[in-house]
Amino acid sequence: MRKNIVAGNWKMNKNLQEGIALAKELNEVLSADKPNCDVVICTPFIHLASVTPIVNSEIIGVGAENCADKVSGAYTGEVSAEMVASTGAQYVILGHSERRAYYHETVEILEEKVKLALANNLKPIFCIGEVLEEREANKQNEVVAAQLASVFSLSAEDFSKVILAYEPVWAIGTGKTATPEQAQEIHAYIRSLVADKYGKEVAENTSILYGGSCKPSNAKELFANPDVDGGLIGGASLKAADFKGIIDAFK
Ligand code: PEP
Repeated sequence: MRKNIVAGNWKMNKNLQEGIALAKELNEVLSADKPNCDVVICTPFIHLASVTPIVNSEIIGVGAENCADKVSGAYTGEVSAEMVASTGAQYVILGHSERRAYYHETVEILEEKVKLALANNLKPIFCIGEVLEEREANKQNEVVAAQLASVFSLSAEDFSKVILAYEPVWAIGTGKTATPEQAQEIHAYIRSLVADKYGKEVAENTSILYGGSCKPSNAKELFANPDVDGGLIGGASLKAADFKGIIDAFK
């Protein structure tokens, strides 16, 4: 059966000392009160090597927020999937709407990143989602279908290592959350696309997370939907108590 997952996306927040302190606090809190779901924290690159040894990997997985679309070489400032994996990280967020919008990541670039992540045994948390104008024009289904092309070129075996995250861009960091009905409707549609491509069994085993202004007060009703298998959490993952409040939605 598919896994329930709550993953944090720290984005470009927390210096190294602050990040270590947050990881330690989270590790203590979740070791004392074990979660009923998989928990992942995705941190800036520079935190990874310091954070992986201080969290109990049975309770908290660690991931990056991006990786390069090239294997290695003269790409100043880039960080490869192999480098990410060498820190002990097991996950990588790819296709976040901020990367698509500000760093012009296309379907093709993301396809390369996903392949390199998988080749280095990293589990991609692959983000898809529409902007407000697309939602208002009722184009969300065609937008997510087009974005899925980056992962639909994978073999079924490789695709089954991918975690999907539906994140309506209009809900990210805005305080505006998709209603549970909106989330369920599009998650079910995304799962149907996976079933069309890879078959029902693969679709049933694919975790599809919701992201966008998820907080302790709304997580339970979002995660209660049959096709919502947890959340990708931005702002509320920066405080251990808030993140734990969301994780506890599975209790
Ligand atoms: C995100 O950026 O992945 C996200 C979901 O952010 P927030 O929870 O802050 O809306």
